[in-house]
Amino acid sequence: MTLGRFPRTHLLTAVGLTAFLTTLALLLPDTDAPQDDDIALLLAPETTQPAAAGDTLADAAPGAVAVPASEGTIEHETAHTAETVAATRPEPAADIRTTAVRPGDSLSAIFKREGLSAQDLHLLMTTDPLAKRLRSIFPGQQLKLTVGADTTLDRFEYAADALQTLVFVRDGDRYVGEEVNREPERIQSFKHGLIENSLFLASQRAGLNDAMTMRLAQIFQWDIDFVLDIRRGDEFSVLFEELYVDGEFIGYGNILAAEFVNRGRSYQAVRYSGAHGDTHYYSPDGRPMRQAFLRAPVEFSRISSNFNMNRRHPLFNRNMPHRGIDYAAPTGTPILAAGDGRVATASRTEANGNYVILQHGQTVTTKYLHLSRFAQGLKQGARVRQGQVIGYVGATGWASGPHLHYEFLVNGVHQNPRTVKLPQAEPIPRSEIAKFKAHAAPLLAALNDQRQQQQIALAR
Ligand SMILES: [Zn+2]
Repeated sequence: MTLGRFPRTHLLTAVGLTAFLTTLALLLPDTDAPQDDDIALLLAPETTQPAAAGDTLADAAPGAVAVPASEGTIEHETAHTAETVAATRPEPAADIRTTAVRPGDSLSAIFKREGLSAQDLHLLMTTDPLAKRLRSIFPGQQLKLTVGADTTLDRFEYAADALQTLVFVRDGDRYVGEEVNREPERIQSFKHGLIENSLFLASQRAGLNDAMTMRLAQIFQWDIDFVLDIRRGDEFSVLFEELYVDGEFIGYGNILAAEFVNRGRSYQAVRYSGAHGDTHYYSPDGRPMRQAFLRAPVEFSRISSNFNMNRRHPLFNRNMPHRGIDYAAPTGTPILAAGDGRVATASRTEANGNYVILQHGQTVTTKYLHLSRFAQGLKQGARVRQGQVIGYVGATGWASGPHLHYEFLVNGVHQNPRTVKLPQAEPIPRSEIAKFKAHAAPLLAALNDQRQQQQIALAR
């Protein structure tokens, strides 16, 4: 059944739903958050990456282009503070020491080791609010200390990560803190993968790490069911940024554009920041990739990484009288709210085991059965957001093994969640579509060119 055949009242609610969803899309950036996680990635201790980065860059060499100023202004830190301090201190040869935080270290241990006074430590920690951040230092982080006459600490630099340093400069009997941020150099890179056994294996072969694979899949999670629909022969192409500081790879930036071909059907997406500054992925014609409901309400990474594509899918896809879809998954696999809504029921029966019913607007209800447990704090009436964990896969109730039984109802009638037609989210407004297309065209062209080159290379 499509919404087009709904009686008039339902059509009205559908229209209402569209508006509602569009608003939510603007308000709730969390499910497509990966696009903004440069920093999170950088903080992750991916110290094994630099070697791989060289390979990656070499692979991508034909198309590797530095991104022009609009996306990533390539701007290197000027060491102005160092010069200023040097200029105002006539004493020759300041004692500058570089040291790394060791396991189990505290600032007081470091101060002792360096022969610095407890008094200076106290001043450092109490005279500038920025010093709060010095309370959580991690092994491996770099410190640069400038020690003056009488072992006075003149300057203290703490490299919080590859892109940010906190600098504290002595000024009489206090320290003045400053955040010094660097812009990484952003290099466009491209990867293509052909799926033979699993998405994750294909990605690894292509040189993408699992975090990037998840981000890629998240872009398409409204169109593609990554648990049940991935097939041998599916392929993906991804145009993304690699971040460098002083020529050293420090992490991945944004996915700029991507394509996923699933069972012969191509889906393309482009990252775009709209007039209101919100960033989402859009199809080439300007429709948000984000939709009202996820294709699969389970975190697929743990499932797809261990299923074997040579045999049939490990689901019990019995249709009627079974009125839902079963996702076989290890106990404890997170179950996600398929859409924004409210918890109508979080309870237990003999047949359902632990189960959750979510109400999404007036018309749509989703049900999740056989949970091992509920997410913490989940209770009747609570609001949930799309992609939020509501519970964990289990085998409670009448279940022969751990799986999620998922049902999707429109006006109380069971629908196949994988084929039901739902109202589409609002496209990019007409006033902005030219700007969007101008942004998208070169990215899509790069994506297509690189994929063709890859295919020619593969065919040789
Ligand atoms: Zn079932």
